[in-house]
Amino acid sequence: MTGTLRQQLIAHLQGEALDALELSGRLHMREKAVYEHLAHVRRSLASSGRRLEVTPARCLQCDYRFQDRQRLTPPGRCPACRSTRLTRPLFRVL
Ligand SMILES: [Zn+2]
Repeated sequence: MTGTLRQQLIAHLQGEALDALELSGRLHMREKAVYEHLAHVRRSLASSGRRLEVTPARCLQCDYRFQDRQRLTPPGRCPACRSTRLTRPLFRVL
């Protein structure tokens, strides 16, 4: 089951960048589960010469970018201005 789900996840992310909420709707799974699957997908793609591209979250208040964040889940608050108005990270398979 998970193999098929992950293949579907990869299929959705080829050529189109989506956030976890969009993937959650398309794959009918909870957003939390999407992040878990994405973490596996990131590892398995790396071993086949492909990769999961992550467009980092950004603060809508001050434009701070969460470039160095390793975790796939969205940050809660901007470290620079404390705003919680943040974009969600986007994922795409290259
Ligand atoms: Zn900010």
